Amino acid sequence: MLSATNVGRAYKITSNSWEYTGDGHSLGYEAGAELIDMEFVQFHPTGMVWPPSVSGILVTEGVRGDGGILTNKEGRRFMFDFIPDNYKAQTADNEEEGWRYTQGDKNARRPPELLTRDHISRCIVREIKEGRGSPHGGVFLDISWIKKKLPNAEEYIKRKLPSMYHQFKQLADIDITKEPMEVGPTTHYIMGGVRVDPDTQMSRVVGLFAAGECAAGINGANRLGGNSLSDLLVFGKRAGEFAAKFAKENSHGKIDNNKIDMYAREALKPFENSSGENPYSVQRDLQEVMQQNVGIVRDEGEMRSALDHLKTFWERAARVGVTGNRDFNPGWHTALDLKNLLTVSEAITRAALERKESRGAQFREDYPEKDERFSKVNTLIRKGEDGGMEVLLEPLPEMPDYLKQIIEEMK
Ligand SMILES: Cc1cc2nc3c(=O)[nH]c(=O)nc-3n(C[C@H](O)[C@H](O)[C@H](O)COP(=O)(O)OP(=O)(O)OC[C@H]3O[C@@H](n4cnc5c(N)ncnc54)[C@H](O)[C@@H]3O)c2cc1C
Repeated sequence: MLSATNVGRAYKITSNSWEYTGDGHSLGYEAGAELIDMEFVQFHPTGMVWPPSVSGILVTEGVRGDGGILTNKEGRRFMFDFIPDNYKAQTADNEEEGWRYTQGDKNARRPPELLTRDHISRCIVREIKEGRGSPHGGVFLDISWIKKKLPNAEEYIKRKLPSMYHQFKQLADIDITKEPMEVGPTTHYIMGGVRVDPDTQMSRVVGLFAAGECAAGINGANRLGGNSLSDLLVFGKRAGEFAAKFAKENSHGKIDNNKIDMYAREALKPFENSSGENPYSVQRDLQEVMQQNVGIVRDEGEMRSALDHLKTFWERAARVGVTGNRDFNPGWHTALDLKNLLTVSEAITRAALERKESRGAQFREDYPEKDERFSKVNTLIRKGEDGGMEVLLEPLPEMPDYLKQIIEEMK
């Protein structure tokens, strides 16, 4: 059963831990499973940008939920300038109403700082690109301003946001009760992953189940914050139950010792090649290319260039070398992770090229509108017979009648 994991380490700036190298996606793909909608990578709008050693670490949405505002270097609350038409009716059009919403006024509409993650990320990128960013390449997120509204603001911030208070104090020497934070988008979550049956969670490889972030389908083109907890509880339980049932009803497959020997030789190869490519250099160059060319705003030219780079990274990854022994050797782990990182990076890029439109977490500068022709398809990635990566557009399955009925009854 697959349950590991996110792909954030394919990018330079990420909220994800060092071990999030796309292993689950890649293992599924190698075993013959299909990956769907890999282009939908979610960039969380607020990661730390300074100091460099902590860049990407998540700054929770709670800061904005409790009254934090986004401003540019001119002090302007720029999110009020970019409210999409389809959200206008639900979004505050003045600062006073936005503040009341954060304080629990049910009659107030939410401030534009609480629009979707992809939209806010793009607005931040625009501010930075147009020269209105903060000194270290982000924008400002300010919760200290609420002292104008609350007499006990400092205590309120420490009580509501204790972990953020400590995070900034310890990592950046910033007191968020007194001064603004600097933040920018950070790679956070992937909506795409292994295609599974929604009831059993089995992939198209008989006996291979997937759940959690490496499985796809429940979030569509975007994900609302907090959804993963219910995803893991509901679909993790299903996957576990059906995998156990399958294991009871079937004997395990035949183990091919030749294959095991081959994988072991492959895994140990970097030790034979101690003067080969440095695995960290390949990983760093890959992260740079994915960040620049297949990031928040994409276009065909940049993504084609990313594919050319990926080709050379595959060649370099085949020549990596490490020294030392097998115990606790992070260089060796990085060398082994490269294949998975390259597989998911290629899948994201090929799927993003195929989806010639903007929707959810994917924004294409060359196709900035949603295109209804893509509403009824998934992008699908699988390993072709020649061993290369195939990408196609697959019609969405017909909704079962019982679900249609439930939807009708809810109307
Ligand atoms: C900073 C951050 C904050 C988040 N906050 C929220 C939130 O508030 N609410 C919410 O709903 N979601 C949140 N998410 C998303 C959510 O945490 C993830 O989507 C969810 O944990 C994914 O669960 P998973 O079981 O698929 O993978 P994981 O929780 O990542 O578990 C995968 C496990 O596999 C292990 N593993 C990795 N590679 C291998 C390997 N090769 N072999 C064996 N084991 C391996 C890992 O060590 C890990 O234990 C957050 C994510 C991040 C990064």
